[in-house]
Amino acid sequence: MADPDLRDRFLNTLKGKAVDKVPVLSVTQTGTVELMKESGAAWPEAHFDAEKMADLALSAHTFAGLEAVRYPFCLTVLSEALSCKINPGRLDIQPSPGSNPFAEKPETLELPLDFAERGRIPLIANVTAILRKKAGEEVPLIAGMEGPASLASRLIGTYNFLTWTLKKPETLKEFIKITGAVCSRYTEVLYEAGVDAVCIVDGIAGPDTLDPKDFEIFMRPEYEKFCRAGKGIKLIHICGNSVPILKSISECGFQGISIEEKVTDLQAAKKLVGSKTKLIGNLASSGVMLNGTCEEIKTEATKCLEDGIDILAPGCGIAPKTPIKNIRALVEARDEYYIKLEYQA
Ligand SMILES: [Zn+2]
Repeated sequence: MADPDLRDRFLNTLKGKAVDKVPVLSVTQTGTVELMKESGAAWPEAHFDAEKMADLALSAHTFAGLEAVRYPFCLTVLSEALSCKINPGRLDIQPSPGSNPFAEKPETLELPLDFAERGRIPLIANVTAILRKKAGEEVPLIAGMEGPASLASRLIGTYNFLTWTLKKPETLKEFIKITGAVCSRYTEVLYEAGVDAVCIVDGIAGPDTLDPKDFEIFMRPEYEKFCRAGKGIKLIHICGNSVPILKSISECGFQGISIEEKVTDLQAAKKLVGSKTKLIGNLASSGVMLNGTCEEIKTEATKCLEDGIDILAPGCGIAPKTPIKNIRALVEARDEYYIKLEYQA
């Protein structure tokens, strides 16, 4: 089953070069309870132990067949490095922030000089090195992180994040400038460690929570800076119906946008983002991926492929109770799609 071209195929797809097949992978979290059993690395330990994190992340490739290794499994690494308390979660629940350390004094946030030494940042760099050794050179490594908006909302609280767009816009703008700089600095650390792509997860920046007008004011300038800073592939995941901001995100310079199933017209979405930005998705993570039959998953996946998805993937983080066979069905759907194409030709 080892395919020597997985990394090339992934990178070429995002660079707009011709590829033989659409890659099947996840740019959002991949830890499931069944994979924890297979790998012997379970939550919550696998969030805080480098070997366990590497083993669980790798199992989504070796056991479930996904064509990349994606880690970590939470969105708290940057928050923790900036003094946010973290609840560790449990076997099937991700860690979550337990405090909003900058709600009272947002003006005191800065990019710490010892950033690369803080919290789990050295651990994630170490996981990258372990995975490169274990997975080899031919499997892409994708690291996820809180995006500038998610990080800000954790440090000051979601309520403040959303109300400050009206009440304290200048304070919020300055704050997001710094969370954006933190994301860029972390991206440098990750590339030094050997990742192939980073994916910022910024659910709260989507139109379901943030008005697209505010997106233009608060997020777009920081996304542009993030994409310009440093080298490497930069991906973004936005939750919900991201259609109203897809064009704007693509203009920021991301090579790929991970979209949810709420983006219902893929062909129209592709026109919005143009040829330079690739679309990644978009089977419902808490719908068909979690509860569907393999046949239902294959039907949805085939539709995505026919509509021109660039990377076939779950639309959001994989739900922990998703069966391995459902993830495999996604990969099989892609394989069967190309066998059929060949047969027809
Ligand atoms: Zn999402």
